[in-house]
Amino acid sequence: MAKIVLEQVDKVYAGGVKAVDGLDLEIRDGEFMVLVGPSGCGKSTALRMIAGLEEISDGKISIGERVVNDLAPKDRDIAMVFQNYALYPHMTVEQNLAFGLKLRGVSKEDRAAKVREAAKMLGLEQYLSRKPAALSGGQRQRVAMGRAIVREPQAFLMDEPLSNLDAKLRVSMRASLSQLHERLKVTTVYVTHDQVEAMTLGDRVCVLREGKLQQVDTPQRLFDNP
Ligand code: ADP
Ligand code: ADP
Repeated sequence: MAKIVLEQVDKVYAGGVKAVDGLDLEIRDGEFMVLVGPSGCGKSTALRMIAGLEEISDGKISIGERVVNDLAPKDRDIAMVFQNYALYPHMTVEQNLAFGLKLRGVSKEDRAAKVREAAKMLGLEQYLSRKPAALSGGQRQRVAMGRAIVREPQAFLMDEPLSNLDAKLRVSMRASLSQLHERLKVTTVYVTHDQVEAMTLGDRVCVLREGKLQQVDTPQRLFDNP
């Protein structure tokens, strides 16, 4: 678990679009921070810069005690969850959950224990031997989250993870995400264009507009002073 600090972060894409403009933001240890705003306001770009998937044009990003500007994504100790699940189709749920741990050289016993724990937390215990094709959309998204959890990263970064799900499933997944955060208290940055999602999930919500920070506050105070 670690705080994430952005200081005067800019992103100018080739062609001159300034997607993020002088962003200052501190995400506290264990906080669930939602980045919200209309399409094109720079949410994904900001998240991708924290992840290291996009180079920053100017400024500084740190995760925990480390400045990560020049660190590759794999060296940042973060886990990402996207809207397209990107599960390995030829592997079972259990193998999907364990794969990242295997790459890191975690022993078979420890892998099994961590996979069991994550599966239990996410209600996936009875699906461990299935392949992704035999899962519903919500179950697949739970597996994607499970893969993030088992690695025990310092931070979770999520980009519209529920946007491919139908409305009913989104509501139940929101509840699962809240419970999961309550349990794990991992620092989380969550991108959405959905205001209801932002208000129900966020400890705090950061509103972006045209690449700039417009407001950052608790959902209650944003609701009282829109
Ligand atoms: P959001 O996630 O809020 O929808 P993005 O971060 O995706 O916004 O995009 C912010 C701005 O940057 C938009 O104007 C978008 O068109 C532009 N943009 C995003 N990705 C690229 C890219 N790879 N190259 C050029 N412009 C981009
Ligand atoms: P959703 O409407 O949430 O996308 P689905 O209609 O895909 O859900 O699946 C409904 C239920 O059927 C889920 O519990 C899922 O695990 C199960 N299921 C879906 N496809 C298969 C399959 N090929 N084999 C076994 N069970 C399946």
